[in-house]
Formats: sequence, C-alpha cells, structure tokens
Amino acid sequence: MTDHPRIPLAGVIGSPVAHSRSPLLHAYWLRRYRLKGHYIPMDIAQADLRDALQMLPKLGFVGANVTIPHKESVLALADIVTDRAALIGAANTLIFRKDGKIFADNTDGSGFIANLRQEAPHWIPARGPAAVFGAGGAARAIVAALIEVGVPEIRISNRTRSRAEALRADFGAKLVVMDWTQVPAMLDGAATIVNTTSLGMSGKHDLILPLDLLDPAALVTDLVYTPLHTGFLQQAEEAGCTVVDGLGMLLHQAAPGFERWFGVRPEVDADTRAAVLLAE
Ligand code: NAP
Repeated sequence: MTDHPRIPLAGVIGSPVAHSRSPLLHAYWLRRYRLKGHYIPMDIAQADLRDALQMLPKLGFVGANVTIPHKESVLALADIVTDRAALIGAANTLIFRKDGKIFADNTDGSGFIANLRQEAPHWIPARGPAAVFGAGGAARAIVAALIEVGVPEIRISNRTRSRAEALRADFGAKLVVMDWTQVPAMLDGAATIVNTTSLGMSGKHDLILPLDLLDPAALVTDLVYTPLHTGFLQQAEEAGCTVVDGLGMLLHQAAPGFERWFGVRPEVDADTRAAVLLAE
C-alpha cells in the first residue's frame, strides 16, 4: 500500500456484469455530489474470485458490490459477515477495511423495504399476511426483511416447491409454503404481494394472477425492473391496488455502499431514477 492519498475506487463484481446498471448509478451520484472516485464493472470468473478480493484493496478499491454468481461464495472469503448477510446466505456489498479485513453485508432487504416506504408511505407491514411468489436468491432477502418489519405471516410459493420449503426451514413458522396452484388461498386477505420470480422480465412470460382475487387495499410490488411496468403490476393496478416497481429497490440497496465508500449518503429521488433510466 502507498501512503499518499488515493482516489477511492469501487465497482461491481459478477459474471456477466455488462448489463448492470450499478456503474451508471454510482457515476451519477459521484457527479452529483462532486466526489472524487470511480465505480467500474468487473467480470470475474469464479476461479479468480479469491485472488481478485486479495488484489482489489491493494489497487485502491475501498469496496464492491457483488452480483450473480458470487453473492454466496463471497461469504466464505469475507472476514466479517453481518448477521443479516449470514441469515440470507449471500452478500451484495463489501467493504475493504483499512485493517485489511473484508466486511460483507446484504442490503437487498433493506433496499426493498426503503423503496416500499418511500413509494407507498401508507403501507403498514403488520396489516396482514404477505404473498411471495418465488424462492430464489432474492426471495431470501425479501423474506428476511418482511419478517424484520413485522409482517405476521408469509405465504410463499415457488415453481420448485423444495426451494420454498428450504426457506421455511431457515426462516421458521411465519412462512407457509403453498403450491403454485393455490393462488386464491395465497391472495385471500394478503396485504402485501411480491413477485420475486424472474417472470415478467423482458423476453419472459408474465406472472398472471386471477384479477378478481386481489384486494384493492393490497400493496403489490415486483422485483423485476426491466420492463419497469411489468404485466403483473399492470394487472394489479387495474384491480385498484397500490403498485411499486422494482427500480427503487435497486437504487436503495446501493446507497449504504456508496456512503461507506465515498462518504456521502446519496438521495434516492426522481433525478436518480431518471439518471438510471436514461440509459434505456
Ligand atoms: P434466481 O435465484 O435465479 O431465482 C429465480 C426465481 O424465479 C425462482 O424462484 C424460479 O423458480 C423463478 N422462475 C424462473 N422462471 C420461472 C418460470 N418460468 N415459472 C415460474 N417461476 C420461474 O434469481 P433471483 O436472484 O432470485 O432474482 C429474481 C428476480 O429478481 C430477477 O428478475 C432479478 O433481476 C430480480 N432482482 C431485482 C432486484 C432489484 O433490486 N429490484 C434485486 C435482486 C433481484 P424455480 O426455483 O422453480 O426455478
């Protein structure tokens, strides 16, 4: 390590990473707050992950975001893992500390909740059960976050039922595993409805639910943000529900890392959304 001041570097580690909007987002915040720093996409193969994590701090990196396929494997390479990252079994934010230690956290769940609180300020998590579709990597963070904010029951359904059952084994009795065919029972009285599957992404089928079963008082949100307004959200909107798209979660989960690396807590607002959407 050199002892003269260095421009802080951060980036996103994954494979592939070319599609990631994080470089665009962090570059926007760096410009907006007139901060010195750079944020770059780094396509790193699984076999090179350990070496890369050792080398990056020496090159001036103060931290990194982590995306597919490294979110789980970085846990074993970090020195300090937050309780929530350990519970979720994955990290999305790394901090390379001055003492040489790697600190790993997961901000997906807090980003998800921050987005709902910002876009739907009247949302009351404890008002009723949540219905969660999907049990992949992102669903783990969502389930942990919903439990933390006091949702009384989480009904979860996944195409591959065993993955939903694995979540129940990890997160406990608040989770009720239901079959993909039990949609009416899942939606009955649900106050919060979440699509965590990749259905609805550009090029994939939509997640379609029976319209008449949606409670207009329910909050409906989708993790998919390409397209921004998915068929699932469109359908929920037509049923009179409050809907929240997934872009805000992406922006909010990025804010804690930016603050730790570059020293300013960034705003997530309409300008931030526009900066990321402009690239479309
Ligand atoms: P993942 O681990 O690969 O899980 C994919 C999920 O989608 C699984 O539950 C899978 O079910 C389900 N699925 C895929 N194709 C399906 C189909 N044809 N029919 C029914 N279910 C299907 O992915 P992930 O990391 O959880 O991400 C899920 C989605 O969330 C992605 O679209 C991702 O872009 C988005 N996401 C958004 C944010 C954000 O900040 N907004 C953050 C993280 C993720 P099986 O288990 O049966 O395969």
